[in-house]
Amino acid sequence: MKKQQFISDYTVYEDEKEMAACAPADAELLLQAHKATENSYVPYSKFHVGAAARLSNGVIVKGCNIENSAYPSGLCAERTALFAAQAQYPDVPVEAIAITAYSEITEVTEPVAPCGACRQVMVETEQRSHIPMRIICQGNTGKVFVFDGVETLMPFIFLTKFL
Ligand SMILES: [Zn+2]
Repeated sequence: MKKQQFISDYTVYEDEKEMAACAPADAELLLQAHKATENSYVPYSKFHVGAAARLSNGVIVKGCNIENSAYPSGLCAERTALFAAQAQYPDVPVEAIAITAYSEITEVTEPVAPCGACRQVMVETEQRSHIPMRIICQGNTGKVFVFDGVETLMPFIFLTKFL
């Protein structure tokens, strides 16, 4: 028996201004994710999430979280964006997705990472795209984390080759 470890690298920017100087296209995507929070429907959690996916053709598809009184019927911002991208541009790879959030109740100063279900959807989106999808996370303000592909966020992923 032996212990093993996995290590994930990711990039940290102090804020969106530092990111804009180094990666202007990703900073723009992040801005679009912030704008997407304006369309969220969150009467229960008061937690507004926005996502913006940039496709390889340059199109940006936005998504937001949408809640429902029957809780499981709602959907996260990331999947809203990725499913909308699939519905409108089924053959166009997704290069990157930015995720942000703000709360009506508390400050969100830490980067908001996607939930497990969204990560699993990102895995399959990557598989279809045949390119890694950059994942850009920020709260309402503060540091920005950038992951160069879903596997850095979700090791030991479930793959279709297992089926
Ligand atoms: Zn999610």
